[in-house]
Amino acid sequence: MLRDYQLRQREYLLEISKAITAQLDLDTVLRLIIQYAVEMLSGRAGLIALRQDDGSFHVRASYGLPAQLPHLFAPLFADIPYQLERADLARWTLPDLEMKMTLVSAALGLPLRQVVALPLVIRNSLIGMIYIFRTEGVAFSTNDRQVLASFADQAAIAVQNARLYQEVTNEKRRLDAIIANSGDGIMILDHELRVQVFNKALEAMTGVSAKRAIGRPCHEIFDLHNRKEGTSICKSECPLKFKSPQERLYVEGDITHRDGRVITVGIAYSPLFDDDGQLVNVIANVRDITRFREAEEMKSTFISVISHELKTPVSLIKGYAGTLRREDAQWDEQTLRESLAVIEEESDRLNQLIDNLLDASRLQAGALKLELGYVALDKLAAQTVEKFRTQTRQHMLSLDFPPDFPVVWGDSERLRQVLSNLLSNAIKYSPEGGTIRVSGRADEDWVYVAVSDEGIGIPKEEQELIFDRFYRVESSLSRRTQGAGLGLFLVKAVIEAHQGRVWVESAPGQGATFVFALPRR
Ligand code: ATP
Ligand code: MG
Repeated sequence: MLRDYQLRQREYLLEISKAITAQLDLDTVLRLIIQYAVEMLSGRAGLIALRQDDGSFHVRASYGLPAQLPHLFAPLFADIPYQLERADLARWTLPDLEMKMTLVSAALGLPLRQVVALPLVIRNSLIGMIYIFRTEGVAFSTNDRQVLASFADQAAIAVQNARLYQEVTNEKRRLDAIIANSGDGIMILDHELRVQVFNKALEAMTGVSAKRAIGRPCHEIFDLHNRKEGTSICKSECPLKFKSPQERLYVEGDITHRDGRVITVGIAYSPLFDDDGQLVNVIANVRDITRFREAEEMKSTFISVISHELKTPVSLIKGYAGTLRREDAQWDEQTLRESLAVIEEESDRLNQLIDNLLDASRLQAGALKLELGYVALDKLAAQTVEKFRTQTRQHMLSLDFPPDFPVVWGDSERLRQVLSNLLSNAIKYSPEGGTIRVSGRADEDWVYVAVSDEGIGIPKEEQELIFDRFYRVESSLSRRTQGAGLGLFLVKAVIEAHQGRVWVESAPGQGATFVFALPRR
């Protein structure tokens, strides 16, 4: 008889553990537990209540009871001790339990006569209660309590599992969100260095979608090139051979976006090992450092350009001044005047360079103030051309503006600077001479001024770049001529500050025509 009983109990418990492992839905498992516990103890009804974070109890599963009236069970949950010793459970009782049952019984209108209650305990702390009721007089025995204890244990395990699962799920969601939305690129590789996770920032950086990347070997997606040697870091040395969890690897290099842009990245790789010391994952944090690289390059260009451009006029000035000062020499009038002219010219050049540099750095700080007024560009062009005529005998300078050329609203000094820069370039970059023509025309909305020369011209692929700061087209002429590569940068800035546009039409050997357009008022 007892054997039968134990056998049945074992079967029930086995079913429950199967249910616990097979599904993580807590309510289903608890419902099964309370049903079997009531059947095992020949009870009539039962319930499982879980303790909430605020200490109150909430009925999570019931059997043989009206489920829609949970508040009527409240008296059962009064005065329950929260800290429990495992050893005491066999003798554990709730104070005034019978009285509480009577209250509930009256409230529900159910003839409950006997009750047994046991706590659900995890690591000495109470997480819930299980209650079984009978409607007839036979009291619950010690054996019944023991049987119930094993159901209580199962229920506690189910609750614990569900909570852990919930925690892990939440943690995973949180991590997924962090990875997905991180400003840095994040890539997780498996132990064979195939991509498992590829976040949004990386998609943007590479132009490769996560869908395409996942499952592919890392080097296919991420062909990192060493900047100096151009060798592929991913393939050649395969640096990802980690031996210990503390190892880190940081590499910098270039990757090519699918749209052709070259992006400089710094990648920090860190390994993840399992408990047996096997490499499970490699986590790569990819940061776009293109801007830093550009800033670095800009700084070194700046320093080399400046030192070169400043040195030339300074050494000329010093050379001529030193010669003139020699006490053992008598200089005729002509030599004196020519030498002083060189000193004056070179000082002007220095002055110009310093002005340009100041303008360029002001522009970088975002401040180019215009002193606005009406400007007659045809007059301004005539004056500028006049000034340059004295500087060259090789070039023919011509002016071509219609008589009714409209005035524009602008800063006349800045616009004079624009014309000067364009004219000085036209002269500088047509070493064989030729005609330099400054012309104007207007349509309904715009006023156009063009400066054209018959010089060396500019290859198509350079035409955008020449407006960048410090950019000079590489050629034997540019190596011979002086220039910081600031002129056109300033031209563009001034014209754009006037809401205008500037561009160039040119082909190598065919001369160049620079045009700027300003809005008519
Ligand atoms: P800076 O004007 O600062 O003294 P720069 O003349 O070299 O120096 P920019 O005026 O900005 O600098 O011009 C940039 C580059 O564009 C030049 O170095 C030259 O290679 C090219 N360039 C400019 N104007 C012409 C032109 N008219 N014909 C051919 N190339 C030109
Ligand atoms: Mg120039």
